[in-house]
Amino acid sequence: MPEGDSLHRAAQRLQVLVGEQVEVETPHPRAAVKGLAERLDGRRLDAVEAVGKNLLLRFEGGLVLRSHLRMNGRWRVEPRGTPRNGKPWLVLRGAEQEGVLWNGAVLELVGARGAPRLGPDILGDPPDFETMSARLRSESPEREIGDALLDQRLVSGIGNLWRAEALWEARVSPWGRLGEAADEDLHTVLEAAHRLMRSALTGPRPPRRVYRRAGRACPRCGGRIRSAPPGDNARTAYWCPECQK
Ligand SMILES: [Zn+2]
Repeated sequence: MPEGDSLHRAAQRLQVLVGEQVEVETPHPRAAVKGLAERLDGRRLDAVEAVGKNLLLRFEGGLVLRSHLRMNGRWRVEPRGTPRNGKPWLVLRGAEQEGVLWNGAVLELVGARGAPRLGPDILGDPPDFETMSARLRSESPEREIGDALLDQRLVSGIGNLWRAEALWEARVSPWGRLGEAADEDLHTVLEAAHRLMRSALTGPRPPRRVYRRAGRACPRCGGRIRSAPPGDNARTAYWCPECQK
């Protein structure tokens, strides 16, 4: 299974294409339907970087292509025109080399210019967790999770109350870095926010566990709930340092 280190190696090999205007093809039918070749063909590839288990390919015009390899995906760099059997997901063809993605798994544009300004609605029915996760992943890995959850470009609809409650449900600290969060943790937080907000919409508001309860006992572990920065304002985080890591 591809891990972070193989992603970093792939990013290194793909550096030979950085700075080139690339021809883009998506021979595999599952990739072709995404309309990527139409939007990327002929653009200059500005950067390739590995972020967690994602490869981010930045193209001129602010288009960012995210590739996540899951179990079987592989990037190769070969001389231009190398004969091949089968249909790769993506071919980025430079003057002398081409980057080839086999078994793409996840391949999508994130944070693209022309994309909707707002992230997917957390109350969507069904909610588009995949796009929300992709947008969170397109942010700096240094960014704090709690901060990112309030960024409406990434996910729309989460406010301070439900941010605090969803992070508590998921046992995730608001101060954790995006780059260090597992995909499952981000998904659990988003899923909790959706579930709590849905139930608040359709019935009695669920009980508050941490929001505006600084100094009181955590209902799960008995730890002392904290808030920061001091005072109650629209961005104050409330969390239990004992059970939210
Ligand atoms: Zn606790």
